Amino acid sequence: MENPYLLLTPGPLSTSKTVRNAMLKDWCTWDQSYNSLVQEIRKRLVALATEETDAYAAVLMQGSGTFTVESVIGSVLPKKNGKLLVATNGAYGDRIVQIARTLNIDVTACKTDETVPTDLDHLRELLQADPSITHVAVVHCETTTGMLNPIEEVCRLAKEFNKTTIVDAMSSFGGIPINISELTIDYLISSANKCIQGVPGFGFVLANKENLQASKGNARSLSLDLYDQYETMENQQGKWRFTSPTHTVHAFYQALLELEEEGGIRKRYKRYQSNHQILVDGMSEVGFKPLLTNQHQSPIITAFLFPEDQNLTFDIIYKRLKENGFVIYPGKISKVDTFRIGNIGEVFPEDITRLLEALKNITYKQGVVNG
Ligand SMILES: *Cc1c(COP(=O)(O)O)cnc(C)c1O
Repeated sequence: MENPYLLLTPGPLSTSKTVRNAMLKDWCTWDQSYNSLVQEIRKRLVALATEETDAYAAVLMQGSGTFTVESVIGSVLPKKNGKLLVATNGAYGDRIVQIARTLNIDVTACKTDETVPTDLDHLRELLQADPSITHVAVVHCETTTGMLNPIEEVCRLAKEFNKTTIVDAMSSFGGIPINISELTIDYLISSANKCIQGVPGFGFVLANKENLQASKGNARSLSLDLYDQYETMENQQGKWRFTSPTHTVHAFYQALLELEEEGGIRKRYKRYQSNHQILVDGMSEVGFKPLLTNQHQSPIITAFLFPEDQNLTFDIIYKRLKENGFVIYPGKISKVDTFRIGNIGEVFPEDITRLLEALKNITYKQGVVNG
């Protein structure tokens, strides 16, 4: 069956038919063929992020992306004298702060406005002022706005002060090249249903093995114990501790093959960039300006300002676009009225062109005449 609409959202996103087809069987979880599939996935994930494959390990974790973030925060900070510094400029950075607070982990935030990237001078001041900080966390693509934060500089700064680095690359890994060893990222977090173009059900961590091994015994949760999950997957060669999302895992493996077929992350990144560029150019013709300046904008998701003084509301646009086969995303920021359009998933420049045609018709019918 064909999908009723194309998802132009940051994940769950539109997947290929072949990825969806990989879920049409029931799979067992305990035998060797399943476990070796898991091992192959882990190996491929590490190879997507570094050439130093022996120094890193991929750990898969059940649940949505947030579960994996919580698993990292709750498992790697020492129980005694651990302190987290979070660079935040949106909902996902704020969520890391909230996770730490919920787990009673000492935390401090380096906050900037939603339209401003991480303030590196402020970050340095905070690191200088508080030697008790042990870990630094930052969101790569802050999906709230589509902002791309300077993870390279943040990690370099953190390492200057000898801190462990945690990067939430949930919405960017697989869609933007990231080299974890060059960038000195100790923990990179992402999930099955974003740029690898799989379906929801688990997240994954690419971890510096040495750091991960030293974190043993720190977990504040049984089911989200990252070290324990790692140890089981290592020692029992691909075994998950508790029921794994088998259909999602099979779909994910297919998605990894398709990423390779596309030509790898660099090629996918180019496609997303084309999607984004066609979108921004076309939207400006219809009268919608992007929230962020080009300099800080990721090709993952684009936030647009809602033009004032017109008959159009998000609900109208959303409903009409959905009738035309496109689903877009509401805004998430506090100060100005925005909405968002995702460029990722099984979405191609032709799709964006069709979206723009549909949007032109809708705005024309609503009597909006914009420059
Ligand atoms: C999607 C996303 C998450 C995880 O969200 P879930 O709804 O738990 O999957 C975390 N961080 C960022 C930056 C994201 O885009």
